[in-house]
Amino acid sequence: MLIYNSQTHKKQELAPIEEGKIRMYVCGPTVYDQIHIGNARTFLSFDVIRRYLMYKGYQVTFAQNLTDVDDKIINRANETGTTADAVAEEFSAAFIEQMRRFNVLDPDIRPRATQEIEAMIDMISGLIDKNHAYAVENGDVYFSVRSDNHYGVLSGRDLDQLMAGARVEENDLKRDPFDFALWKAAKPGEPSWPSPWGDGRPGWHTECCAMIHRYLGTPIDIHGGGADLIFPHHENEVAQCMCNWNTALANVWMHTGMLRVDGDKMSKSLGNFYTLKEVLDSYDADAVRLLMLQTHYRTPLDFSYERLDGAVGTLERLNTCVQNLRWAAERTSSEQRALDDTDRTLAEVIDQTRAEFVRSMDDDFNTAGALAALFQLVTAANTYLDQTSSSVACSVAVRAADTLVELCDVLGICVGTSGDELPEGLVGLAAELVGFDGTDAGEAATVLLEARGEARANKDWGRADAIRDGIAALGLAIEDTPAGARLRAQD
Ligand code: AMP
Ligand code: ZN
Repeated sequence: MLIYNSQTHKKQELAPIEEGKIRMYVCGPTVYDQIHIGNARTFLSFDVIRRYLMYKGYQVTFAQNLTDVDDKIINRANETGTTADAVAEEFSAAFIEQMRRFNVLDPDIRPRATQEIEAMIDMISGLIDKNHAYAVENGDVYFSVRSDNHYGVLSGRDLDQLMAGARVEENDLKRDPFDFALWKAAKPGEPSWPSPWGDGRPGWHTECCAMIHRYLGTPIDIHGGGADLIFPHHENEVAQCMCNWNTALANVWMHTGMLRVDGDKMSKSLGNFYTLKEVLDSYDADAVRLLMLQTHYRTPLDFSYERLDGAVGTLERLNTCVQNLRWAAERTSSEQRALDDTDRTLAEVIDQTRAEFVRSMDDDFNTAGALAALFQLVTAANTYLDQTSSSVACSVAVRAADTLVELCDVLGICVGTSGDELPEGLVGLAAELVGFDGTDAGEAATVLLEARGEARANKDWGRADAIRDGIAALGLAIEDTPAGARLRAQD
């Protein structure tokens, strides 16, 4: 299985540190507001990477922090007349809720910066002892980038180059403009903790490194984040780990491409963002996922609502195919029959799809290729359903449906479930119109559709229409498919 390592700029064979196990860490959000769909793209990409590694049989331990103390949180608290704690609490809960709505699996370990102060103080003390960091008179502590001969190893730029290109925060207390704060002295009214250098709070770059060391041990197998974190955040994480523990932080560094709007990176500061919440309030999480996974995780993704509408249609195609396959299989008479050429062709496409899905995902998690394979199966299945009369669709149809559901699930996309949610009102309707005496909505639906089919065959249009209208009143439409009629939610 090949993974692209952004440190070496090459794809490399996945070689877990401990056989059969993967330890991975993805930098979490700063919880000062709702996350936007750019952030969500990064979290989704690593969710799919994690899911696929699990599908391949690895035991994955996934850690992700919450940055719950930061200037942005403090500013937001000041603006809204509340406390930094209250802001962090509100948006940590919001983040967790929106991630679950997006079907992103919870991390196994979710450390919060404010709960890890001791580990960070230990690490900073170690760096001071080893002359890689220094405290200044106001109580700040800085990491000395010039003390680290390897600085720049991740982003591939040396300090002098960086110095020429980058804008850095001016600060007279630092010995070098690229030195970064490990500990920030408390300002009046800000959250703070006691430390050997006076009251203060940790710097952002400090937390991930200390947490990874504490919860996963270094080096880990995979460290991830958006490409905008490579420098300086990840470079600074690497430096602290190497200087304090003399180990690399991660074997493989994975970075996602940016989600863009009209060519610009989506970001809070540009104001060109949509929150994940507002998008999920209007669109199915599966459609948003599908849209994002149609682009490889390292490639920039241009977002627009037109493209999202397109993904809604694509998802619908997938769902309809699964439902039609199941419907065809359910209507099949129980008599066994020999497989014919049509069945064999579909069976072959199922095997090819599975192989192509795995081949694509094994090639640096190529979700676009994996989805293309799934849609090849959708096309083949639709042809199969056109060619196969309802009474003879066979087990291969079930296998095609199950394959689509299973492989979509590996990508965190749920398909084929809507048919399970038939309204209970069907039972009463079937009792009234066709004397149904059962209690199951699915059975009631079958009886009603059969009765409608008979009525139409007998040209009893009044009765057929009454059944259709009763069904429509329950919010359902009848879809006549090659494999017979079935119910679906009204558009
Ligand atoms: P932040 O809260 O700004 O640290 O961002 C959380 C995560 O979202 C980080 O991994 C960022 O790299 C990532 N991120 C931020 N903006 C975008 C974007 N436009 N597209 C993709 N990922 C992003
Ligand atoms: Zn981090």
